[in-house]
Amino acid sequence: MTRSSTAAHRPLVIFGGIAAASAFVIWLLERRPGGHDGDYTTHRPQYKRGMRERDYIRLIPEDELVRLKSLLRRVYNLRGWLNDTESISRAWSNVLAAAQKPEGGGWNLDFDIDQVKPPQLFALCAAVETYFLGGLLAQQIRKSRRPALKVLLGEDPRDPYSWLSGLHDDNTIYVNANRWRETISEENPMNFEGALCTSKLEALAHTLGHELVHAVVLNCFPDIDAASAAYLPDDKHGPIFMLLNKKLFGHVGHASQRLFNIA
Ligand SMILES: [Zn+2]
Repeated sequence: MTRSSTAAHRPLVIFGGIAAASAFVIWLLERRPGGHDGDYTTHRPQYKRGMRERDYIRLIPEDELVRLKSLLRRVYNLRGWLNDTESISRAWSNVLAAAQKPEGGGWNLDFDIDQVKPPQLFALCAAVETYFLGGLLAQQIRKSRRPALKVLLGEDPRDPYSWLSGLHDDNTIYVNANRWRETISEENPMNFEGALCTSKLEALAHTLGHELVHAVVLNCFPDIDAASAAYLPDDKHGPIFMLLNKKLFGHVGHASQRLFNIA
C-alpha cells in the first residue's frame, strides 16, 4: 500500500520539480540585462554629443524617422536640390547675395547691429527659409494657424550670452544684440556648426538656419517637440535636431567657435 502510493505520487513530484526549475530559469533570464521588455530602456544607448550620424540615427524611433524622412523629401522637392555639399554651399552664397540686395534688406557683410531694422531681420530669415526649406515651414505655419515667425533684436531673457538666437513657443526668434557687436572677418572667422563664416552676415544667416530647425520641429511635429526622447536631449539638440540640421542646412554639430583667439 505504502509502496504503491509512493509510486503513484512520483510523476507528480517529478512534474512539480520541473515546473519549479523552469520558473527559476525564467526568473533568472528576466533578471539578465536586456532579457525582459521592461529592461530595454535602461540598456538602450544614450545620446552623447559628438556621436556620428550612423550611431545617433539608431536612437530615433522608427515611426519618427519615417516622418522626418518624409519631411526631408518634401523639402528637397520644393527647394529643387538635395543635400550635397556643393548645392548647400551654393545656397548659402545665394542667401548672402539676396540679403545684400535692397529687396533682401540691403545688408552689409559687416553690419552694425545698432542700425539693423526689424524688416531686415525678417527678410534675412525669409531668405534662409525660402532657399533651404522651399517655403514648407511658412506653408505649415499658415495651415496650422500658428503665429507667424518673428525675428526680434534684443536679449533672449533665457540665454543672454549665446551667439545663437533662441526660438520661443510663439515662433519668435531672438537675436542676441550684444554678441553681434563682435567682429567676424576673413582674419577672425568663426566656425559655425562646421561652416566657416568670414562675415557677420554669413554667421547670422547660419544662426537663423539653426533656429529654423527648431521651428520646423515645433510647427511640423509638435508632439516630437514636446516629448520625443530623440529630440529633447542636450537642450533639444538630440539626434532629431542633429539629423535635420545636417540634412537641411549642412550643419554638423550645434556649436560655434572662433578659429583664432582674437578678441
Ligand atoms: Zn538650438
